[in-house]
Amino acid sequence: MPGLLRPVEEHQRVVTSLIAPRPAVGVPLADALGLVLADDVVAPLSLPGFDNSAMDGYAVVADDVAGASAEQPVVLPVAEDIPAGRTDVLMLKPGTAHRIMTGAPVPSGATAVVPVEATDGGVDTVAIRAAAPPGKHIRRAGEDVTAGTTVLRSGHLVTPAALGLAAALGLGELAVIPRQRVVVMSTGTELVSPGTPLRPGQIYESNAVMLTAALRDAGAEVVASTMSGDDVDSFRATLSRHAGNADLIVTTGGVSAGAYEVVKDALGGSVDFVKVAMQPGMPQGCGRVAGAGSPATSETATPIVTLPGNPVSALVSFEVFLRSPLRAAMGLPNPDRPRRTAVLTEDLTSPRGKRQFRRGVFDADAGTVTSYGPPASHHLRWLASANCLLEIDEDVTEVAAGTQVRVWDLA
Ligand code: AMP
Ligand code: MG
Repeated sequence: MPGLLRPVEEHQRVVTSLIAPRPAVGVPLADALGLVLADDVVAPLSLPGFDNSAMDGYAVVADDVAGASAEQPVVLPVAEDIPAGRTDVLMLKPGTAHRIMTGAPVPSGATAVVPVEATDGGVDTVAIRAAAPPGKHIRRAGEDVTAGTTVLRSGHLVTPAALGLAAALGLGELAVIPRQRVVVMSTGTELVSPGTPLRPGQIYESNAVMLTAALRDAGAEVVASTMSGDDVDSFRATLSRHAGNADLIVTTGGVSAGAYEVVKDALGGSVDFVKVAMQPGMPQGCGRVAGAGSPATSETATPIVTLPGNPVSALVSFEVFLRSPLRAAMGLPNPDRPRRTAVLTEDLTSPRGKRQFRRGVFDADAGTVTSYGPPASHHLRWLASANCLLEIDEDVTEVAAGTQVRVWDLA
């Protein structure tokens, strides 16, 4: 009965409205990778901070070596030895040379550096076999960054190179939009942790690790991953323990039409359970729940999104409803999966009135897509080897080979 189903876009809007950015915080550089800057970064100092040598060689007055050649070297006394890290201020007298290493401060009065390869490498005196024009092999203070310049803008994704720049500028912290903190809760009395023996009727729990990975991959932080049976009291107890410590709770299972639907039974008052016009992933829910001791209706209560239990439904639902708003709340670039159209290689059918998300293999060279595995929501094997979701509209029941279809790039 399509009329009773909530459209995919409407449920996307409702879920998105629950997810809010965390306030900006300063974090140590090592924790900022992959986050987005909350403020502009203004250089507190110049880079380089002082004139320094670009080569291992000899600092000289350029005029003193203007006539130097292999046949007629210019011999100068070596008055100083300047390794990188020397902190005293030196002056070069005309008619002398200072031996100098890469990165060491160029003495005042020196106007060029002659690379060691163009000399005899002398320690007391040096024979210089090539001229060096003024400025040669000197890295000027501020030629990379001038103090006071905005070097990175608010909204910039922190990359390894951005961290290198921040460190070079002496910054210990960056102001970023923090990761969304998410609690994952799997439900089902039949579930057993991988690695322990199975009794008849039990299955290995697979949603928690899968969703935890998907959340991390999306940039979120998973602060807890729990597993509970289909007992309402223990589910409620676990939930209220975690509700105050997260920006979002994601549950799986216990939301469909059977008996023992623990999530539905426990949260009927605070979560809106709906049927969404999609396959897989029809039973969905979202709302807010309070932590221990605070009222359930409070605006500060924690958003909760209840996904169906079948692993394929759970992951497809994550892709359709959660990935983009979580990334958007963290300010991340390209919150949505890349979408494209591709030519379908086969005939497909799709249920009337439901948006179908089939697992697919997109061939970028050929521009084609082929569905991969059956549409049913427990066929996890196929999802694991698919590289895209193939999206078929609600009003379409048959798609012929050769038709252009929409594809979500998961790779
Ligand atoms: P439910 O929505 O709780 O009725 O679960 C639907 C189907 O998904 C059932 O076959 C469950 O055994 C299975 N299922 C639910 N949760 C998980 C999970 N965390 N890991 C693996 N399978 C699950
Ligand atoms: Mg269940």
